[in-house]
Amino acid sequence: MENLSNISVIREICDKFGFSFSKSLGQNFLVNPSVCPRIAEMGGAAPGVGVIEIGTGFGVLTHELAKRAEKVVAIELDARLIPVLSYTLSEHKNVKVINEDVLKVDLKKLIEEEFPGMEVVVCANLPYYITSPIIMGLLEQRLPIKAITVMVQKEAAARLCAEMPSRDCGAVTAAVRYYSIPRQLFPVSRGSFMPAPNVDSCVIRLDVKETLPLSGEEEKKLFALVKGAFSQRRKTLQNTLSSSLGKSKADISAALSEIGQKPSARAEELSLDELIALSKIL
Ligand code: SAM
Repeated sequence: MENLSNISVIREICDKFGFSFSKSLGQNFLVNPSVCPRIAEMGGAAPGVGVIEIGTGFGVLTHELAKRAEKVVAIELDARLIPVLSYTLSEHKNVKVINEDVLKVDLKKLIEEEFPGMEVVVCANLPYYITSPIIMGLLEQRLPIKAITVMVQKEAAARLCAEMPSRDCGAVTAAVRYYSIPRQLFPVSRGSFMPAPNVDSCVIRLDVKETLPLSGEEEKKLFALVKGAFSQRRKTLQNTLSSSLGKSKADISAALSEIGQKPSARAEELSLDELIALSKIL
């Protein structure tokens, strides 16, 4: 169905299905008609490509994805939206809607069963209350996906896509940069949604790396170090890591000098490669 970003059409659908927006499910639907086509194009929806969408709402983005991609599997938690989606997406034979919590779906199995031989991407206007668990879940499972293009809160976008080293980076920045190459695509103002949230948004794209430098065991050690290092970001690594890793300050100081860093360095002053090197030494 066209015009799903039109406010009168949204109101008509709400009346027809007796639907009201749930704040706790992060239901802020897109009403700016220029946004969904851009997410679909920039996210890589194209012939031969399979798309996983998370959180369909009334299907405004699903519609743009289905017009471009080979197949779309859309995961929506709110059961009230399933009959709405049968109505709004009835013209698309290449869309499958799954009524599930995305955090409980076995995405590896879903990709194998639904997209055999296809390149797969994720495109979504994410429910903001679970942005990080969704993104980290997608990355940590090492799913065979090419890219993740998602709308997130502006502040989350800045943190997820921050440079390393920089004052904006945190543990999540290091994790995202370990698994992918992140970039901010375009801002989206709060007025682009119905109901309008209290924050602005940004669409980001994470290009998932095909090969990773560490084994599973080494990764665990890296992320334990990263978690400790950024736990109190204003403190020096000598202080944060000595307590989180149970090492002496002298050991941490020696490891820092081995990677060419000063003993008073803080987490935000290290690149991802330096954090990896430090983790290998310690
Ligand atoms: N894609 C639509 C749009 O752009 O207008 C809706 C986006 S809205 C920000 C987020 C959607 O995610 C809502 O439809 C909400 O019901 C759904 N959602 C919330 N939590 C979810 C979860 N755990 N798993 C799947 N969908 C979820």
